[in-house]
Amino acid sequence: MLFRALKKEDLKRLYDLLAGSNMIVAPVQKGQDGNRAPIYAFEEVSGFGEIHLDYTSTKIPAKRFFMPFRETMADFRMDGKDWGKRVGFNIDRPFVFFGMHACDINALNKLDKVLLGSHYPMPYYAAKRNNMFIVGIDCRPQPYCFCRSMGSDTALHGFDLFLTDLGDHYFVEVLSDTAFNIIRQITTREPAESDHALYMKMVSDKNKQFTLQVNTTDLTKILDMEFQSDVWKQWGEKCFSCGTCANVCPTCYCYGVDESVEMDLSRARKTKFLYACNLIDFAEVAGGHNFRPESHTRLKYRYYHKHRGFVEAYEESLCVGCGRCGESCLAGITVPEVIASVRGEDI
Ligand code: SF4
Ligand code: SF4
Repeated sequence: MLFRALKKEDLKRLYDLLAGSNMIVAPVQKGQDGNRAPIYAFEEVSGFGEIHLDYTSTKIPAKRFFMPFRETMADFRMDGKDWGKRVGFNIDRPFVFFGMHACDINALNKLDKVLLGSHYPMPYYAAKRNNMFIVGIDCRPQPYCFCRSMGSDTALHGFDLFLTDLGDHYFVEVLSDTAFNIIRQITTREPAESDHALYMKMVSDKNKQFTLQVNTTDLTKILDMEFQSDVWKQWGEKCFSCGTCANVCPTCYCYGVDESVEMDLSRARKTKFLYACNLIDFAEVAGGHNFRPESHTRLKYRYYHKHRGFVEAYEESLCVGCGRCGESCLAGITVPEVIASVRGEDI
């Protein structure tokens, strides 16, 4: 990895270079909530001035750009006597995430393990992932963040450039060849010892700002022991089975496939759509049997997938601790509270 120092006034030059032939997706402000706090979202931008690099967190993660809620997998047309099939990966130009936090970069790294690294890689995801350039940006811990507990508060890979705000300039981590070739077209300098010291002080100050923790020690073992615990029923009674938590989660990737045929049999379409394990029919199979008819069994499944099954498969949790699910849950169900209750601890 290379390190450079970039004056803040030269950041627009980086944007202009990247915007030349790419779609730029960046955090923008979309309004205010009831407490007059800004609401941010990842959107396609057309100018550097639209970007809010000082954003807190986006309500919806960036996944809608590489794992859309609904996506056509294949189109079929009756061509004479035969069906003609067209498969597209639904990407028309490369895109750049300009200002992604470490937790969301780590979410992509986790998705890569499943969607690129498994026996059956997902070509629709791979096409977008392979045409993606990521500029990371450091963040300020929010009261709902517990990424530090999940080891996702810093990103060591999965980005091209990473910017850390050091006052009048950025400390820049250059990870990929593409990033190196871009950064050499911009005026930067070798970081001085004083920049290193400033960077380490900034990291140390940031670490003191985390207020929320999740105790993950022996968590897989404890989940195994507490599989029949009544706490799951208590949380299940609160849960509305609305699926919002999966919708806003940067690492939830479960999906269903829908096939539809025109009445005159001239066309057909296969569509992939994201689904949520809390929804009532998630585990319903042909014939109508539902393997998880109660809300607590579905909620429990979500936690066991994130914090038990994924750890067994990949030696890391499928949760990055972004806190989005707890912030969006109308029932007030948060990961730190659920985990603490399973452990018999107070939060
Ligand atoms: S945990 Fe909350 S957000 Fe998730 S399904 Fe239940 S009520 Fe909805
Ligand atoms: S489970 Fe919740 S806290 Fe964890 S990554 Fe998903 S949205 Fe973020």
